[in-house]
Amino acid sequence: MTLAQGRPYLAIPGPSVMPDRVLAAMHRAAPNIYEGKLPEMVETLWPDLRRVAGTTQNVALYIANGHGVWEAANMNLFSRGDRALVLATGRFGLSWAESVRALGVEVEVLDFGKSSPVDFARVEAALREDRGHRFKAVLTTHVDTASTVRTDIPALRAVMDAVGHPALLAVDCIASLACDEFRMDEWGVDVMVAASQKGLMVPPGIGFVWFSEKARDRCRASDLRTPYWDWTPRADAGEFWQYWNGTAPTHHLFGLRESLTMILEEEGLPSVWHRHDVLARAVWAAFDCWQAGNPEIGLNVADPAHRGRSVTAARFGAPHATRLRDWTEHKAGVTLGIGLGMAPAGDPAYHGFLRVAHMGHVNAHMTLGALAVMEAGMVALGIPFGAGGLAAAAQVVGKAAG
Ligand SMILES: *Cc1c(COP(=O)(O)O)cnc(C)c1O
Repeated sequence: MTLAQGRPYLAIPGPSVMPDRVLAAMHRAAPNIYEGKLPEMVETLWPDLRRVAGTTQNVALYIANGHGVWEAANMNLFSRGDRALVLATGRFGLSWAESVRALGVEVEVLDFGKSSPVDFARVEAALREDRGHRFKAVLTTHVDTASTVRTDIPALRAVMDAVGHPALLAVDCIASLACDEFRMDEWGVDVMVAASQKGLMVPPGIGFVWFSEKARDRCRASDLRTPYWDWTPRADAGEFWQYWNGTAPTHHLFGLRESLTMILEEEGLPSVWHRHDVLARAVWAAFDCWQAGNPEIGLNVADPAHRGRSVTAARFGAPHATRLRDWTEHKAGVTLGIGLGMAPAGDPAYHGFLRVAHMGHVNAHMTLGALAVMEAGMVALGIPFGAGGLAAAAQVVGKAAG
């Protein structure tokens, strides 16, 4: 017997739930790319893309996913033989490091493990040791989507400033933009990358690189750049095709217009951040209760201050995470995220981890519903858990929503 009929809910950290309005905006005949509605509409995107990132500076768009914009950032930032300092708080920092290294850049990785935040003393030591200032940039994730560790970007900037190291600061906000508070200019970030399919609620296909004037100046001579990946013509396009170095991602752009209107004009960015914060705290409250009755259950990041607000990584004890994911998907219509980077696929331990996304187009009933479905699954599968999780989550939502 299954209770999965009805609208399915993909609660994985990207692609995220797409609003019907975004999909409807994309549902149209192929537009003229030379004049008319599309080029006119695209001019309205630039100020909104700056606003959503908290910057007045440059933005370049690519037809790419997150891996693509890592490379876009890398190729503009670095020359062959440059050095990069990469901070890894899970899986995604390590992947960004691999992508830079593959270009012939010398990479030093500070790996903080699978559940700990950045240790700023280690960052400070690494920067001080680099007396010749050979690190061209420090690369970090804002939220690592595997561990769900959130990095305190203003604190990182403060360390770089205190040391007096001139490296540029580049931040991957793919899992956090329009979910977790982020202010590019105020926080002194030089380069920020994001992709359409997470907090921005658009299908995968557009990647974004925001860059400061300082980054533009410092990177003029970067010799890894090829015409396709060069951010300059994309940011300064004189002709429409130059924004994309070819054909525009026509339909995605109409979807993006709709999502930016929803985020910036209708809900407002501070409310978007607040909604994600409340839903995240509801999830954590449920886990705290569940864990009280089963120590195998637990959140990956101990201190709430270091947790991302868009996705929560957890353990259930192998093989219960995989059993629970199967149950919620096939019996109740909620697809939870796999545990990423915690144990290799094929290792029995792999089946002890999962992630609950609360990213983008999600509201209280979706998150509370996902938690209730998880409890139902634990009942069905005989996974022990402490009582009161749903009530605790409801308290968080009820108190926050007033
Ligand atoms: C999803 C994600 C990526 C990779 O994006 P793809 O679109 O899958 O290539 C990179 N970094 C972070 C933090 C992410 O969440």
